[in-house]
Amino acid sequence: MIRTKAYAAQNANSPLAPFEIGRRDPGPEDVQIRILYCGVCHSDLHAARSEWQGTLYPCVPGHEIVGRVVAIGGKVSRFKVGELAGVGCMVDSCGHCASCREGEEQYCENGFTGTYNGPVFGGENTYGGYSETIVVKESFVCHVRHDEQALAGVAPLLCAGITTWSPLRHWQAGPGKRVGIVGLGGLGHMGVKLAHALGAHVTLFTTSPAKTADGERLGADEVCVSTDQDQMARQANRYDLILNTVAAPHDLNGLLNLLKRDGTMTLVGAPPAPHPSPGVFNLIFKRRRLAGSLIGGIRETQEMLDFCAERGIVSDIELIPIDYIDRAYDRMAKSDVRYRFVIDMASLR
Ligand code: NAP
Ligand code: ZN
Repeated sequence: MIRTKAYAAQNANSPLAPFEIGRRDPGPEDVQIRILYCGVCHSDLHAARSEWQGTLYPCVPGHEIVGRVVAIGGKVSRFKVGELAGVGCMVDSCGHCASCREGEEQYCENGFTGTYNGPVFGGENTYGGYSETIVVKESFVCHVRHDEQALAGVAPLLCAGITTWSPLRHWQAGPGKRVGIVGLGGLGHMGVKLAHALGAHVTLFTTSPAKTADGERLGADEVCVSTDQDQMARQANRYDLILNTVAAPHDLNGLLNLLKRDGTMTLVGAPPAPHPSPGVFNLIFKRRRLAGSLIGGIRETQEMLDFCAERGIVSDIELIPIDYIDRAYDRMAKSDVRYRFVIDMASLR
């Protein structure tokens, strides 16, 4: 066992605090990573504060992990000690169901193992990236090919990046397509950057007029304040794809109205309570689709990381020490984050 410093929530109501966990000694197929940076996803907040129910405590959140390989098992062939590595939301899956065989481990029919709060098949809890080190099966570790000084901004690619990349690719965002990104937070700002980099015409839909200039700087061709009915009316029936990243329940009708015939709105935001059901006529008259999408597979995550490394794409971050985490959660709950908090893990050592 490797004794590891971490930060944990002990229950839904008290602040996160220092906590020691044990990591397994690396097995033949394992990679041990010394964590340098870990992004702070809204899912961490949902889980730490048990907003989704079902949180196992103690809970060590964190699934946007970058670091350096410090040890490898005897059968590891793709990583060497000293290399940079990334780990996202999953650390294992069954490996033999149809989804796993197709490289869509996030849809594992036997349930993937989450990086945290994801009991391993033996039944133990898993602990995430708010910690010094992590031991992960090689097949769930990605290569990081960005310049080393960009590393803190790479961490959020492991969740916010892949969660927006996967639906953008699935619904073929690219030249000639109009894509709307709803919500400019961690996921949304990566959605804007990636949809722009893929060549789509991008519109940001935000409830925060003060984020307009940032939306344009990040790559949006247009910014629409979604609470302004006149602005929304001008955008109706124009979009091939709407990527909805909002972390709270809200009325979907106004957003579905943005879709052209056969357009799709995919939900990636995962609010603790359901959205009110949208009007059926809004869907049937234009054969619109309402869909969902969950993170992305490991092969696709590597593709996205390499795409971003080649183009110098990283997340816009605010680097924080680990003892700021509860303030960061409170600010994120108020949409006050530009645009991802990332923990400097040196602050834990
Ligand atoms: P975030 O940084 O807090 O961003 C969410 C954004 O949504 C906010 O910045 C805000 O943007 C908008 N928003 C918040 N409350 C709103 C409200 N009441 N009405 C309208 N807009 C609102 O969160 P995140 O880390 O990007 O995560 C977003 C959601 O995705 C979370 O629920 C998270 O759990 C989920 N998630 C899902 C997956 C998946 O695989 N599907 C993966 C990761 C995360 P504006 O100020 O621009 O309006
Ligand atoms: Zn996440």
